[in-house]
Amino acid sequence: MNPVQEEINRPVFECQCCGHCCHGQATVSVSEQEQRAIAEYMDLDLDDLIQRYLVVKKHCTEMKIVNGHCIFYGDDGLCRIHPVKPFHCRRWPLHPSILNDEAAWRAIRRDCPGFKEDVTYEQVCAFVREHLNGFK
Ligand code: SF4
Ligand code: SF4
Repeated sequence: MNPVQEEINRPVFECQCCGHCCHGQATVSVSEQEQRAIAEYMDLDLDDLIQRYLVVKKHCTEMKIVNGHCIFYGDDGLCRIHPVKPFHCRRWPLHPSILNDEAAWRAIRRDCPGFKEDVTYEQVCAFVREHLNGFK
């Protein structure tokens, strides 16, 4: 392994399970396939899931927000639907906008303490590219 590759492979990110990304007044969209997977995981009818946990908007369906966090955020600080959580949750914070804009990476980093303190923008881009391939 050459020195550049070693540098790229240094640990870049480790989730701190702080729950910040599950809080706020906005949440993420849930595709129809994801809705069916969540309903099955929770042993609910799809209509029940939608009525109790989701908000149907004009262009997308999202999770409800309660007490300032996603309705699936548990009292123990963990996601209650972790094995079937939506794509946008699984991918966070490795958003593709990081690759086009260092300011986007800095904004995401402010909200997410999982990135190592001394990591460089180049290391983060390499890490994001590597992991985004896994989502294709
Ligand atoms: S904000 Fe970052 S470190 Fe905190 S739970 Fe979300 S992904 Fe993990
Ligand atoms: S589905 Fe889970 S990971 Fe996604 S915002 Fe809700 S609690 Fe957080």
